[in-house]
Amino acid sequence: MTTILEREVPIECAGEIQTLTLIAHYDSRLRKTVRWSVQGDAITVRIPPCVRRKEVDRILEDVISRVRRDRDRARQRRDRALQRQDADLQARARALNRLYFDGELTWRTIRWVGNMQRRLGSCTNGGPTDGDIRLSERIRSWPSYVVDYVIAHELAHRKFPNHSSAFWAYLARYPHMERARGFIEGVAFADGAVFEEDAGLAPADLPEAGGGNRPL
Ligand SMILES: [Zn+2]
Repeated sequence: MTTILEREVPIECAGEIQTLTLIAHYDSRLRKTVRWSVQGDAITVRIPPCVRRKEVDRILEDVISRVRRDRDRARQRRDRALQRQDADLQARARALNRLYFDGELTWRTIRWVGNMQRRLGSCTNGGPTDGDIRLSERIRSWPSYVVDYVIAHELAHRKFPNHSSAFWAYLARYPHMERARGFIEGVAFADGAVFEEDAGLAPADLPEAGGGNRPL
């Protein structure tokens, strides 16, 4: 195979610029059809020798626009899947609220986020983002009674924005609380106490004054 060119190609996807490497070869095993593949950040295009050099640029532009379109579509699919998952989360929170808290709790949004490592969840109380509940993507695959516990925990913070004994007594309405906390402690232990800074695992800590983003 003879390499025709290798260059960096910026591709815009949902407002983000990704730089891919485009490599084009002449491949004598090909008769007429151009073949291309994307692996990671590299686009490899194999071109039959009968294609003239001046046509190559047009072919490469075509390949790049297809890659851009595929990435856009994949991005849209991902966004739609995330919206569905957040809708599921919302339904789950409503069910827990109804089952264990007499439907008395209110919140604004509940969603999965990928940027929480040590915290399992958080809930804002006060301020412009009052009532935003976030759950770490990390726990998504954990048993559902544990995920439900984390949701219930964050919901309960809407009534008690602290870890007071009243908070724990209220959260104990969720029947699998002890079992779920045992699971979380077990994961923390196995991972070398990765959650040790999580205030939510302490039996009680001082209530925070005012708003702010509260860990589990
Ligand atoms: Zn908490």
